[in-house]
Amino acid sequence: MIKFIGSFNDTRDLPRHPTIHEYAFVGRSNVGKSSLVNAVVGSKVAMVSNTPGKTRMINLFNQDDKVWIVDLPGYGYARVSKDEQLHWLNRLERYLSSRSELKMLFILVDSRHGLKDLDKVILNFCKDEKIPFKIIYTKCDKKDACKFGNGIITSSTKKIGISEIQEIMK
Ligand code: GDP
Repeated sequence: MIKFIGSFNDTRDLPRHPTIHEYAFVGRSNVGKSSLVNAVVGSKVAMVSNTPGKTRMINLFNQDDKVWIVDLPGYGYARVSKDEQLHWLNRLERYLSSRSELKMLFILVDSRHGLKDLDKVILNFCKDEKIPFKIIYTKCDKKDACKFGNGIITSSTKKIGISEIQEIMK
């Protein structure tokens, strides 16, 4: 059973749980994050994260009281200023480096577009800080999908690669 715990503005507002396993999803806006989270948990839970006002928040879900799922704010919006982008990045880095509950960060990348600059910033931060991460290629069913590298190839519509993610989260 999946339950919405809440939306939080900053890492320090997040509830803590010493024994829970936490998995977080991050990616550019429109990468297919909500669709993927919904497919992984098997319900339309991430609708919350796409409602106005919640998009910029850290949304937390509880699965079977065993796993916490964190839907992190999307990035790469065209109309976001450099200042806002920097603020978002600082907030993300604070989350990543302070969250002992975090077992893995899933970095979502559109299989048609490959890794963009901000994806690489996050990826390199994880490498430097030794934070476990995995690249997830989304929308692999699209006919122009091609930029596959090292990572899990998925399609939420065709239910490809979903069980691989669920397996990691067990
Ligand atoms: P978010 O902004 O990252 O949360 O992305 P959404 O999950 O809202 O998806 C953005 C758009 O991509 C929507 O129009 C979805 O229907 C579409 N989409 C998401 N996942 C897939 C997929 O696996 N395959 C295809 N073809 N479209 C997808």
